[in-house]
Amino acid sequence: SELTNQIAAGEVIERPASVIKELCENALDAGSTRIKIDFIDAGLKQIVVQDNGSGIAADEIDLAFMRHATSKINTNHDLFNIATLGFRGEALASIAAVAKVDIVTNTGDVNGIHAIFEDSNKVKQEAIASPQGTKIVVKDLFYNTPARLKYLKSERTEIMKIVDIVNRLALGYPQVSFELTNQQKQLLKTTGHDDLRQTAANIYGIKVAEKMLAIYAQSPDFKIAGLISRADDTRSTRNFITLLLNTRYVKNYRLVQAIVDGYGTRLLKGRYPFAIVKIDLDPLLVDVNVHPTKQEVRLSKESELARLIVRTIDQALGATEH
Ligand code: ADP
Ligand code: MG
Repeated sequence: SELTNQIAAGEVIERPASVIKELCENALDAGSTRIKIDFIDAGLKQIVVQDNGSGIAADEIDLAFMRHATSKINTNHDLFNIATLGFRGEALASIAAVAKVDIVTNTGDVNGIHAIFEDSNKVKQEAIASPQGTKIVVKDLFYNTPARLKYLKSERTEIMKIVDIVNRLALGYPQVSFELTNQQKQLLKTTGHDDLRQTAANIYGIKVAEKMLAIYAQSPDFKIAGLISRADDTRSTRNFITLLLNTRYVKNYRLVQAIVDGYGTRLLKGRYPFAIVKIDLDPLLVDVNVHPTKQEVRLSKESELARLIVRTIDQALGATEH
């Protein structure tokens, strides 16, 4: 029902940044190399996400907007072996429950599909000439859920959350060009040249990026790679630490603490580094099914990984001190 849809939507779509995260993740899962995002009024009036990915076939549009419909899990086994960012089949249905959605999508034919969803119902579908890929326009977010609107923070904070999530996605996918604008005013643009340092420069500025140290380590279970700032290039919050598990930006207090611990006494009290730490591991070791937004994860062998992170960072910093 409409109400069930709205309640479930609240778990996935907390704020405008959640819409942008989910739409970008879909674009990435669809193999896009270019993703353009624009928003108006902190995303409440309008969010546009345009990609050049695989597109959605005409006969799969309805399914894509149905709750628990996902094209990404076929067997039981897949549930425990997740390679794509999405897999719950909740995002599009949730967004369509709390906003008006206008989609143009094309799988590479002359004509694609234009469809409009309102209150979870499709109110229009027509053929339309369009480039390959998908453009989704989300309008009037939370117009039908006033409680959600009240819970939102200031416009400034909501914009910061949007910029933050796009930054993290861009760091996870340096091979993809991201362009984020606020009513056409540019906030972020990455080249998509598959160069993490360049992406870091696009986000944190060239001064920070050029001084960052490359880290690398491998164990039977984990591969660690990334860039970390020197101990004198720091900030007063942990927000510039990005942990990526199999390219997915995740929140895990223990592993972020391991990054900080790797600096040990080199860090002044209350200071935190810039760090982009990418960890590749067997998806079987990660449980991303802890929370609907998939941002908090549980790990088997977490202590082992934490120790490896501490050691890798300590050694990288130590190698520069003679
Ligand atoms: P999930 O990502 O968990 O599968 P979503 O609700 O986010 O669920 O998306 C539903 C389905 O719609 C996806 O499985 C995918 O097949 C299709 N889809 C959504 N967005 C895109 C996109 N930008 N490009 C191609 N296919 C898409
Ligand atoms: Mg998705």
